[in-house]
Amino acid sequence: MNQDPRSHGLWADSAPPGPDTSYLGVGEPAVDVLVIGGGFTGLSAALHLSQGGARVAVLEAQELGFGASGRNVGLVNAGLWLMPESLPFLLGPVYGPRLLRILDHAPDLVYQLVQRHDMQCQAVRNGTLHCAVGAAGFREIRARWQQWKQLGAPVELLDADATARALGTAAYRGSLLDHRAGTIQPLAYVRGLAQAAVRAGARLYTHSRVRAVNDGGTHWQVWTDQGKIDTSWVLVATDAYTQDIWPELQRQQIRLPYFNMATRPLDKRQYAHILPKGEGAWDTRKMLSSFRLDQDGRLIFGSVGALRGVGTRIHENWGRRALSRLFPELGRVEFDYEWYGHIGMTSDALPRLHQLARHTVSISGYNGRGIAPGTVLGRELARLILGQIDMADMPLPLTEPARAPLKSAREALYEYGAMAAHAASDRF
Ligand SMILES: Cc1cc2nc3c(=O)[nH]c(=O)nc-3n(C[C@H](O)[C@H](O)[C@H](O)COP(=O)(O)OP(=O)(O)OC[C@H]3O[C@@H](n4cnc5c(N)ncnc54)[C@H](O)[C@@H]3O)c2cc1C
Repeated sequence: MNQDPRSHGLWADSAPPGPDTSYLGVGEPAVDVLVIGGGFTGLSAALHLSQGGARVAVLEAQELGFGASGRNVGLVNAGLWLMPESLPFLLGPVYGPRLLRILDHAPDLVYQLVQRHDMQCQAVRNGTLHCAVGAAGFREIRARWQQWKQLGAPVELLDADATARALGTAAYRGSLLDHRAGTIQPLAYVRGLAQAAVRAGARLYTHSRVRAVNDGGTHWQVWTDQGKIDTSWVLVATDAYTQDIWPELQRQQIRLPYFNMATRPLDKRQYAHILPKGEGAWDTRKMLSSFRLDQDGRLIFGSVGALRGVGTRIHENWGRRALSRLFPELGRVEFDYEWYGHIGMTSDALPRLHQLARHTVSISGYNGRGIAPGTVLGRELARLILGQIDMADMPLPLTEPARAPLKSAREALYEYGAMAAHAASDRF
């Protein structure tokens, strides 16, 4: 997929191939909608637009899933990182409940698409566990549990014993089990969306980095190095990996690095007690950790940090120490794969809907919760462009991109802070 083995790691080796694609050339037929970016948002939009009868092309700078979509943990969660109650507080009485409602059911859409289009993406829907670290962590998940419960969501608060049975480690004070959620192989899901979009009629172009979007009066002219295509609408789905176009999208996000490491396939007897029901898990620490199994019994363990320079060794060593504290029975673990990517964070942890120009829209800034939200908000962008809903009906208010204060300093703080925390950490 990509020359750098630290870009997509295990996912690149275990995903079935995607559809055949080529780069955009000259003389390509015009489309109604040109989607920029081949991740969850862009491909879900392309699928739903094509199903709605629009002529659609997707331009991806590298390979499908090159951005965060092909690198993530694969936790298909409902809602956002924010507490449910804070959405109406931050977005007001119209958009708050509307966004909450749509994200409450967002995993349903993911698993329906997987089933309907027969995607081979290791989809498991046995919930996820948000694990409480200490008393403060438990208070946090109890508040989440109460808030979701009030909204009628199928969530359970597990005590320390039940959590230890579910996880196979006694490291946590309790957990929030969310039955709406599950896990997938994220790159395989990207490719499944791409196959479905192609079958619905979309044209997908890879190694086609958009360099310019020019106003042709009645239409847009979208230029790559080798080609050009005319379109009525432009849908920008480039999130934290935005290059060249609309730099304000980049400027409004703080990029947080996150890495994953996958062990060798474990012996069935070794891991029978680790996540026996196949949930995905992550914890309440600020420098959080996540873990899950894949279909071959590899344990995938992740945390904040970039696998580059001295960070690589620091995070690898920390990963080994942390895993052997969580699951001492595994002995010294070896990692077959390591990879990392960047999460696009916004100042208030909410995604953003922008109208960047006439008939040009974008959604970005998922703050680490992009599988289900990207899928469902991609569909909502498609419905907007198809004229099935108005801008005022969207689940997010339209805003102007705003520069994130102290962007470079905060990005450095994430990267070097994670190194310092992992180098110093001897606890788990
Ligand atoms: C390590 C990691 C772990 C994560 N874990 C989870 C998780 O477990 N659960 C969860 O829900 N979310 C998770 N996330 C967040 C989630 O992966 C993202 O929110 C989501 O993938 C964003 O999808 P997207 O389609 O909007 O953007 P992306 O997948 O980033 O796609 C954007 C694409 O646009 C392309 N592009 C950029 N500029 C141009 C251009 N000029 N021309 C053409 N193409 C261009 C890029 O190459 C890229 O492929 C994680 C993210 C990371 C990095």
